[in-house]
Amino acid sequence: RVKYHGKNHYRMYTSLNAEKSFRKWTIEKDIYTAMKDKQLVLFYQAQIDKISGRIIGMEALVRWDHPELGIIPPGEFISIAEATGLICDINEWVLECACSQQKRWEQMGYDIRISVNISPQQFYHERDLIQVVKNLVSLKRIQPKRLIIEITETLAINNMNIAIDKLLQLKEFGIMIALDDFGTGYSSLSYLTSLPIDEIKIAKEFIHSLDNGVANQAVLSSVINLTNELGLSVVVEGIECIQQLEKLTNLKYHLLQGYLFSKPLPETEATQLLIDKYNIDLIDAT
Ligand code: C2E
Ligand code: MG
Ligand code: MG
Ligand code: MG
Repeated sequence: RVKYHGKNHYRMYTSLNAEKSFRKWTIEKDIYTAMKDKQLVLFYQAQIDKISGRIIGMEALVRWDHPELGIIPPGEFISIAEATGLICDINEWVLECACSQQKRWEQMGYDIRISVNISPQQFYHERDLIQVVKNLVSLKRIQPKRLIIEITETLAINNMNIAIDKLLQLKEFGIMIALDDFGTGYSSLSYLTSLPIDEIKIAKEFIHSLDNGVANQAVLSSVINLTNELGLSVVVEGIECIQQLEKLTNLKYHLLQGYLFSKPLPETEATQLLIDKYNIDLIDAT
């Protein structure tokens, strides 16, 4: 019995592994042409206001539309792009594309904010991020407060003083700052008081952990209360079902993001979502 299963399992294992390494090899080889051949695309995921139930923002999430592999998520190519240095071009393209999109939607009558994820490399080492952002905002003529820069805790904490200085420069210019994936890293609440941020995004892993008992619920509730006291707004990510939404009913968060309302969508579908749902209370609708 053991032998039979063992053999079968071995065969499956190797072919799966071969497939995985072929995929990785293809990604590593083709990343050099991804930008040049215009294969990168931005998807947009709606952010819903808790009170009005309306779409008030979109988070821009990069994907690579590979000619053979299809849509590749950022988790599979961002770190490779970082290792090759190609990340700089990708990052600037994402920012530019997101700003253009914000303007297009505004011109269509949808007054929504756009959130962009900034990697540590982009934040600390790249051609002056502050200048890049300022130039883009003026070039595209967007309102600075309609651009949200998302950073992670790890990024902020590893170089706290430099981070604070850069964030202050962005904020002086009117850009909003969000702390992404809160609850997965150090998550010390004291960082919230020292960092010049406008919003925290509670990590989806944290929201999903609510399924396993009341302890996490209590932690979440106190994090949200403190955040409110500091005058920061709270986004909850990764809401997949109505049960998860119901667990949050009594919490004082502001924005929701998750598959329950919408998956990240390509431009045309995201625009269609706005056309169909911009004036609809999506929370009532669920
Ligand atoms: P993130 O910024 O925390 O983005 C949220 C991730 O959660 C996205 O994955 C999104 O598709 C996924 N998500 C949204 N709602 C749900 C839900 O209800 N359930 C579940 N299970 N997942 C949900 P995605 O697009 O694969 O992005 C992964 C990460 O890659 C992002 O995490 C962000 O850190 C990074 N990333 C994405 N786009 C960019 C970019 O343009 N530049 C940089 N530097 N990083 C990016
Ligand atoms: Mg994000
Ligand atoms: Mg996140
Ligand atoms: Mg993240």
